[in-house]
This record gives sequence, structure tokens and C-alpha cells, in this order.
Amino acid sequence: MSASGSIESLLGNLTLARATTDRAEHRRGDDAWLLGAWSNPTTRVLRVNRARFPLTADADLLWVGPDEVDVSAERLFLGVDGAGVAYFAARVGPDDDEGVPSAITWGDLRQYGVGLSDRDAGLAVASVALDNWHGNHPRCARCGDSTVIGNAGWIRRCTSCAAEHYPRTDPAVIMLAIDDDDRALLGRRAEWQPGWFSTLAGFVEAGESAEAAVRRELAEESGVVVDEVTYLGSQPWPFPCSLMLGYHAHATSTDITVDETEIVEARWFTRDELRAECEAGATAVPPAVSIARKLIERWFGGEIPGEWGRP
Ligand SMILES: [Zn+2]
Repeated sequence: MSASGSIESLLGNLTLARATTDRAEHRRGDDAWLLGAWSNPTTRVLRVNRARFPLTADADLLWVGPDEVDVSAERLFLGVDGAGVAYFAARVGPDDDEGVPSAITWGDLRQYGVGLSDRDAGLAVASVALDNWHGNHPRCARCGDSTVIGNAGWIRRCTSCAAEHYPRTDPAVIMLAIDDDDRALLGRRAEWQPGWFSTLAGFVEAGESAEAAVRRELAEESGVVVDEVTYLGSQPWPFPCSLMLGYHAHATSTDITVDETEIVEARWFTRDELRAECEAGATAVPPAVSIARKLIERWFGGEIPGEWGRP
């Protein structure tokens, strides 16, 4: 594939891959600048708790000023926009509604990610990813002692051995296998109800390339063998800390043997079969927020109607 072809092949509309603000990494260690930003009334703060955040009545992120946030909340510096406005997340308690009287609800990215602006989608994803990481890493992986937040939320330092730990991202591959008859392989996970189908996926293992993981996961979960794999794009999936790497893969075999543990059913679909079954309500595809949906749409040849998606 040519260089220009590979750029054109990228998925361009990934919901959670959108972002417009500068992460301003050089400010993270600048305590004087950070204090100045926190005392600036134009600074915007998003409160976050266990992957959820407050929303306005219009389902936009509810941004507040620094003086409206609990002084004990840990601050995570997210970046600066083109107008010089600084953005932070604040890790608050589960019932912390003080200062946000107009918040009608707390929600998460799966539910509200599609409707957010490009700016807010990027800031919300970073907030949730960082909050998850801090919540899951209170102790040092080297010596087991406690860690404390540093660098405006982008480091945890061990209080005993001084080891520095950085936000973790786990790469996962997600892939649509397509056979020589232009059919797509979709599978159903054990925990899903009958009729729900999606692309197969799995984590990249230690010491493994992403391309090898695509081939291994397809073989393990479905028995299907693929040769060429084509990278199409990535999006963060902070549930709690994945980065989904999306592929199409060319199948050289079509016999299916599911693993019966993760995947209990897998099938080859023609476009007509997918359309007919989705219109009849017998089959549902993944929600629009997912890269799986975009991988299926790319094969299908256009946007899939919202009502074909599972809840
Ligand atoms: Zn330590």
C-alpha cells in the first residue's frame, strides 16, 4: 500500500479519538504556572468520579471555575486551548454536587461521548483515563508502598523508594476479518444476549506485535486464518485503560470454530444478511461510540442506521 493510500485508509470519524486542545506537556512540572492557572477565573474544570462526569441539561460537559471545586480534590492538568484557556479535571467524591446546581445528571463516555464537541470529547477521555489510572494505582509496583500524585496528574511517585510511575495504556487489537466473497466475520461474546454481534478483539500480549495479535486472536476465538492485515486507525477506550488499534484482515480460511469461552458464536455475514437481520431486529451491531462500529461501516459501505445498534 502506498503512503498516500494508507492515509486515506484511516478511519476519520472515531468518536473518542477527537481532541482539539494542546496538552501542553511542558506546563505539567511548572508549579508556579499551574497555581496561576488555577487562580484564573477563566480556567475550566471538569469534575470526574469513577469514569463519570456531570452534564448540563443539554448533555454537554458541565465545566466550572476552580473556586467551585472542593479544595481537597486532586487536580489533573489537561491542556490549553487556542485562546489560552487552561483545562483541568478534578477527582471528586461520588456525591460531590456542591457548586454544580445545574448538573442534571452524571454520565459516562459510552452514553454521552457521541454527542460531545471535539474539544470536550478529547478532554473527557483524558479526564476519565487519568482518573481510572490514579484510582487503580495507589501503590508502588516496585516496592508496594503508597504513591502520591505528581506532575499535575501525569506521574505517581512512591513515598518510599521514589520510583516514578506513568499513566498506563494497554494496547488492544480489534479487527474485522473479510473473506474472498466479501463477507465479514462477526462474533458474539459469552456475556451478550443472542443477536448481538461485533468484530473480534483482544489484548496485545507481552512481547507481541499488534499484527501478530490480530492473527492470534482471530485464530483463537474463531479458528479463522488471515494473511494481510491493514491498520485503519485507533481510539482510546478508557474502560479502564485500553487503546484500540483497528484493522481489517483478509481471511484465507472460512471454517469457524469458536473458543466457547470468550466467543460463543461467530458467523460470516453478507451485507444483505446484515441489513435484513438488523432491520428485522434479530441482529444488533455495536454502538456508534465504538471503533467496532466504524470498522463494520467501512466494510458495509456507509453509515449504519442508529436503530441497528445495540443499546
Ligand atoms: Zn516504591
